[in-house]
Order: sequence, then C-alpha cells, then structure tokens
Amino acid sequence: MTPRFVEVADRVHVLREPLLDVNVTLVVGDGAALVVDTLSTAGQAAGLAAAARAVTAHPWTVVNTHHHFDHCFGNALLAADPARPVYAHEATAEALRERPDEVRRAAYEEMRETHPELAAELADAELLAPTHAVRSEAVLDVGGRRVLLRHPGPGHTGGDLVVHVPDADVLVAGDLVEQGGPPAFEESYPLRWPDAVADLLRLTTPGTVVVPGHGELVDPGFVRAQQGQLAELARLIRAGHADGAPPERVAAEAPFGPRAALVATRRGYAELDGAA
Ligand SMILES: [Zn+2]
Repeated sequence: MTPRFVEVADRVHVLREPLLDVNVTLVVGDGAALVVDTLSTAGQAAGLAAAARAVTAHPWTVVNTHHHFDHCFGNALLAADPARPVYAHEATAEALRERPDEVRRAAYEEMRETHPELAAELADAELLAPTHAVRSEAVLDVGGRRVLLRHPGPGHTGGDLVVHVPDADVLVAGDLVEQGGPPAFEESYPLRWPDAVADLLRLTTPGTVVVPGHGELVDPGFVRAQQGQLAELARLIRAGHADGAPPERVAAEAPFGPRAALVATRRGYAELDGAA
C-alpha cells in the first residue's frame, strides 16, 4: 500500500515510509512546495511523488537532511525531470557529487543482511547530487512561507541540515533526533552531537512539532531528554578515553544500549586520538 501524507500542522504534511519508518515532510505554500527527504529507491520515491501530488499540484523544491540513502536516493525520481532545485549541506552535496560509489557501497553494506533486496537496489541506484549547497543557513521562500535551513554543527553526520517552518511551528530534525530506535552513530560526531541538538532546540517553542528522521512525531521535551542522553554519552566517552578504558567498558554503561554506544565510543575515541 502506498503511504500517504498526513497534515501535522498548517499545510505541513508528513509521510511515514513503512519499510524503514522514514519520515518525509511536505510544506505547501502559494504556488510552490518543499519536500524534505526523498526515501531510498526510485520505487519509494514514485510513491512519495504520487502522495505529494494527492496534496498539491505545485512544483517542489527538495531538501536532503543528510547523505544517508534513506533520505536522498529518491532525488533523481523527484528532481531530475523536470529539473528541480535540491538543497543540502555542503558536506552532503560533496558526498553525493564526489563520492557516489562510496555512498552506494555504505548503503549496500548497511542493508545487505537485514534487507537483501533493498541492498541490491541501493548498490546501483541512480544518485542525483544536490544543486544548492548550504554552509550554515539558508532562507527559502516557499510560496510566501519563510523556511529556514540550518546546519546545527556536526552530529549524526558532518552534514546535517534541519528545516524550520516558523509559521507552523514545525522543526524537521532529520536523524539528529530519533524516535523508535537509538541514534545511528556509524558516521557520527558523538562528542559534538549534543551541541547540535542544543542548537536546534533553540528554534523550538513549547508547542513545536518535531519531525524525527524515523518514527513518531515528538515534542521539545522528548528532544531535550535525548539531548541529555547524548551529553551523558559524550561525557562517558571523554572520561573513558582519559582513563584509558576499553570502548566496550564505556559502552556497557552508556545510554542507547551497548551496541549503539560502542559504535559511538569508537568514533569518539578516534576523534580524541585525532584520527576522525
Ligand atoms: Zn542517517
């Protein structure tokens, strides 16, 4: 069954793709629309395009929150013909433009055990690199609505962008905020991730609807609690590194469970060793 967009705030709609529980956000203005993230495959993106067309006939601009496959491998389907602008952080744009084979390979490796058919499709997906690179901030006019794209610093990746729609009090956080599973640390900056989440929290009000990369919509209280866990994890990583503790021992007592925390701890140690 093709997923549908659900309006979560004034002319802001969210679609949850069931396979990996990925959220896509659609912002509709007067004569223009914005699609945030494009899913994993051409097939998923075609479903997304049909779902968006059921909401609006306006041409869309695309934003990628980061370079992971489930957020940008649908770019070609959504923005190649007709050509539409695609915004991303400059590190995300660079990864998709300069290192598409590496990005495809990482996607394949991540999925090959749990979702072999998806993995095979990802391995030779047609990638479309972003056309507009954002360094720290950009403001878009989406049919009369002001939309802010902001890089809150390195966190889930080196190139995360959040999307703020102030007139509807919605913040699209990408994988900087995760609901339904632990944050993914494989390409993360665990020592700086808490600061990135603190930065995005400054865009919120008590009533802000926060769209995480995956899972249910959350509120700023949820985000603040996750920020606290990320800060605790970063503190444990620094302390363990200073004590010469093995990463496994740090991860055993860290938030998010030993498996995710071990990946985070290894990344943090490498950064503290000057290798990341
Ligand atoms: Zn991700």
